[in-house]
Amino acid sequence: MNGTAPPPALHLAQVSKSYGGNPALRDISLDVQPGEFVGLLGPNGAGKSTLFQVCTGLFAPDGGKVQLFGLEYGKSSSLILSQLGIVFQTRSLDADITVRANLRFFGGLFGLFGRGLKERVIAVARMMEIEPLLDKPVRSLSGGNQRRAEIARALLPQPKVLLLDEPTTGLDATARRNLVAHVRGIVATTGLAVLWATHLVDEVAHADRIALLVRGEVKAVLPPADLIALTGASDLTGAYFDMTDTKPT
Ligand code: ADP
Repeated sequence: MNGTAPPPALHLAQVSKSYGGNPALRDISLDVQPGEFVGLLGPNGAGKSTLFQVCTGLFAPDGGKVQLFGLEYGKSSSLILSQLGIVFQTRSLDADITVRANLRFFGGLFGLFGRGLKERVIAVARMMEIEPLLDKPVRSLSGGNQRRAEIARALLPQPKVLLLDEPTTGLDATARRNLVAHVRGIVATTGLAVLWATHLVDEVAHADRIALLVRGEVKAVLPPADLIALTGASDLTGAYFDMTDTKPT
């Protein structure tokens, strides 16, 4: 037994959460390791957003444990939040000002200033391949590049864990595919741990593992190929229909 194994980047153990007696999360257990891209896949209403709210400390779970690198909310909240990047479905950037001005503003909120802030803005813009767009108003960017700017914002404080809640909402198929592939690349090169929530099967087809969430329960946490094999379906969409009971009529 190895007593010194490092803790996972994100660790959920038997997490439950109800709204007025209606369970939204039931006994969720899930780990995400550094350098791992885990897709949180589930239909609307499965509990994905609630899980993110619990992971970000917005809500305390009714039961169970949430840890980042072994730290728990409460006395370690500020340390946890300093290691966590979050991309919500809704837009957080000001569309009327430039990408750079947005990133400088948020960098200030994260405690960055001066030369460090300037360099960090350029670094995240390079990571997301939007450096040539830094001086354009957010409004003038394509939908895909606006989402890249949102992710750049989340990467400013150099988080070790990045949570993305349906980040491709409103994007066309090509922009969606490019965005997923780009974040996959960042995970591979930086060791960032990513939990990517979606109801779209193709977005997690190349995830390291898929956590399949159905009516507040994790049905499986497996690499895509193993999920397909488990159901005997011919592809991931078939496996998803099978395990979520959502086969079209
Ligand atoms: P998803 O993000 O997968 O669509 P949600 O986490 O938004 O799922 O919702 C999970 C369940 O919890 C749903 O049944 C939803 O109606 C319910 N729910 C979500 N937010 C609230 C809330 N603030 N109050 C009451 N019920 C909620």
